Amino acid sequence: MIVMKFGGTSVMDATAIQRSCSIVQGRLDRKPVVVVSAMAKVTDQLLAMGRAAGAGDREQALQLSQALRDRHYKTARELLGPAAYEQFHCTLEQEFDVLDELLRGIAAVGELSPRTSDYVVSYGERLSSKMCAAAFSAMGVNSALVDAREVMITDGQHTKAVPQIEEIDARAQAIMGPMLEAGCVPVVGGFIGATKDGVQTTIGRGGSDYSAALFGAALNAEVIEIWTDVDGMMTTDPRICPEARRIKVISFEEAAELAYFGAKVLHPATVLPAIRKNIPVRVLNSHNPANEGTLIVARAPHSRSVFKAIAAKKGITIVDVCATQMLMAHGFLRQLFEVFDRYRCSVDVVATSEVSVSMTVDSAQALPRIAADLQKIADVHFKERNAIVCLVGENIREKPGIAAQVFGALGDINVCMISQGASEINITFVIDEADVPEAIRRLHKHFFAAPDPEVFD
Ligand code: ADP
Ligand code: ASP
Ligand code: MG
Repeated sequence: MIVMKFGGTSVMDATAIQRSCSIVQGRLDRKPVVVVSAMAKVTDQLLAMGRAAGAGDREQALQLSQALRDRHYKTARELLGPAAYEQFHCTLEQEFDVLDELLRGIAAVGELSPRTSDYVVSYGERLSSKMCAAAFSAMGVNSALVDAREVMITDGQHTKAVPQIEEIDARAQAIMGPMLEAGCVPVVGGFIGATKDGVQTTIGRGGSDYSAALFGAALNAEVIEIWTDVDGMMTTDPRICPEARRIKVISFEEAAELAYFGAKVLHPATVLPAIRKNIPVRVLNSHNPANEGTLIVARAPHSRSVFKAIAAKKGITIVDVCATQMLMAHGFLRQLFEVFDRYRCSVDVVATSEVSVSMTVDSAQALPRIAADLQKIADVHFKERNAIVCLVGENIREKPGIAAQVFGALGDINVCMISQGASEINITFVIDEADVPEAIRRLHKHFFAAPDPEVFD
């Protein structure tokens, strides 16, 4: 069997859903499980209406919900015949009525808890999966909806819930296994799940890729296909640098680093289930299905190019911690990281000197509380709106002179922090957020002027 995951732009309207359905039809003999995201931009809109309601703005929340309702009605009308539409319209109407009721409740209380936010946001994938299952049936594909909440079992950390692998394996096999044997295509929403007690959760933004990989591992898939709106993983974000090239093959390790440091095309956790069962992942373009995309496997072939790709992650805060009483006495770092741990604040890049430590975090939310806890041992300063830039490639291992080339190519762009060595496959540094496009273009020009045709398209 195979898993086929379709992202937001691949299910954004009736035309996109029909296109994705034809791609599935071409692979029916390989027994696909289809995982879908919410229609493009819907997750952001649901979050916006939840926030509006939480701030007490009932009218704004309901207006946003009405726009979403209209979009789903219109798409369903275009996809389904009159009889099927009439039935499906009732389903949609009921779903949106409950959502509106929920928004009124949130506005009345004037507070949006993470648990309620997950519930609001879950509508994106709940609706898109229902719509795709109905559309696939209307197009003659033997398919059936699977409720993600019965398969994707997670812990209770709302908005970033952790999937419970053994439970997911067992449930996917029990629910989807017999469907596949009967020649039926299971259609399931990504990103959303539930605790064992049935409380709605979500597994983090962009998490549908991760859902697809978890189901693939549970069912021992031959391949996990991630269908998106670009030809695969590229040498950098094509929106920033139109010269970006498609990477033909990349290793799990390289893909994970790139995803973690900002290549939005793949959720960073996607490779974990794939590694566990050694299942290849292929990133493909639903708007250009003939293209072979990017293959992600355990070991990528040797390449003559130094780097595979460049990624950037914005919204980074630099935290400078200066020891107040003593120079870096032993135990200082332990105390320091204990405080970050207490607030579940994860640190990405670290640089130390005799008297201070600089770190980056991707959320500044907990920093005032962290600074207060550290008051006795250190002064804490932080600076927002930075970006981590990361160049990834297994070829940099033991190659001299690479860092000099990187910083030479950057020219007059100011670098605030540098880190190399942790994984041996990346060079990472921190710059001002505003400098990202120029930095990426300069680096891309330097390192990808003549890329190895074996590895890049
Ligand atoms: P989906 O909705 O299909 O999950 P995403 O928007 O999450 O799609 O990811 C696809 C987008 O990721 C692309 O449109 C592209 O702009 C962006 N992107 C960022 N870095 C890269 C990269 N290195 N390769 C390809 N796409 C990238
Ligand atoms: N719809 C979710 C999001 O926008 C999950 C996903 O698309 O992967 O984050
Ligand atoms: Mg995505």
